[in-house]
Amino acid sequence: MKAAVLHTIGEPLVIEERDIPVPGPGEVLVRVVAAGVCHSDLHQQDGSVPPFRIPIVLGHENAGIVESLGSGAAGIEVGERVVVYGGWGCGRCRFCLGGQEQLCSTASWSGLGPDGGYAEYMVVPSARHLVPVGDLNLVQAAALADAGVTPYRAVKKALDLLVPGTTALVLGAGGLGQFGIQYLKMLTEARVIVVETSAERRDIARSLGADVVIDGSISDLQEAVRAAASEFGVTAAFDFVGSDTTMQLGLRSLERQGLLVVVGLAGGSVPVSFFGMASEAVVTTSNWGSRNDLAEVIALARAGALTISIEGYPLAEINDVFELLEKGKTKGRAVLIP
Ligand SMILES: [Zn+2]
Ligand SMILES: [Zn+2]
Repeated sequence: MKAAVLHTIGEPLVIEERDIPVPGPGEVLVRVVAAGVCHSDLHQQDGSVPPFRIPIVLGHENAGIVESLGSGAAGIEVGERVVVYGGWGCGRCRFCLGGQEQLCSTASWSGLGPDGGYAEYMVVPSARHLVPVGDLNLVQAAALADAGVTPYRAVKKALDLLVPGTTALVLGAGGLGQFGIQYLKMLTEARVIVVETSAERRDIARSLGADVVIDGSISDLQEAVRAAASEFGVTAAFDFVGSDTTMQLGLRSLERQGLLVVVGLAGGSVPVSFFGMASEAVVTTSNWGSRNDLAEVIALARAGALTISIEGYPLAEINDVFELLEKGKTKGRAVLIP
């Protein structure tokens, strides 16, 4: 099978021929139909988020068809169409038992430890990580495994806060932000303000229902957000970039008891101090999604409630896709089709 392998930090991935892996006891072999490309893959390739192991097949946003079962594997049928839940935990700690395997301390995640989906086949350690998707388009479904589920979890953290009359701020309308806008419009009464530097993505944000869309490259962003926000500021800010600049903008835009949820992995930081932010504001991160979060997002997609903006590319073009993503030139989620 073909696989795109990261051998050296900072170097392009190498497309190489490998044997199709054989699933061990309890494991499941999945034929990958689509694998989404995530900014965190770029961060691993450039070393800013060091990969757990090298060489590695990256790819943690996968959908495909069950090809074969290892001995004793049960709970899924050969031929079933599935999204691969990417947080592969120990299965025993309290986070795993609650379905939040992405928070398990084992750090054994698809494409971030074990080999992931930038290949024609991948081994999944347990059938519990496979969520059937029925007749959902698998190329679209792949994006749900991270771009779809991560903002869903982030928005759920603020549902109690986003009552009528409030505003929510979305920083970055790329693959994740586009889902975030939809969840905010679908699940809350908040007015949604979006800040985005790309004109194309600003148009997409508008088409997804954003109420106010601000060009992220203007000089006085803070003032523009203030003007668009409710009287005292935004009630919840979702930072899908995670740079110093966006985190500062998010925190400074908050009203009292507001919530900043940092999702993007750009590695930024922001000082938290008593007088440096609105009283009782809360800063947190949101890390991927639980198995339940993924099942809920898949249910929304199956009900036709989500617009999933996809750009498909052959696996062989993976390095070009990384470059496009790096330069912010993708409109929707880039998905590799092995
Ligand atoms: Zn990701
Ligand atoms: Zn665990």
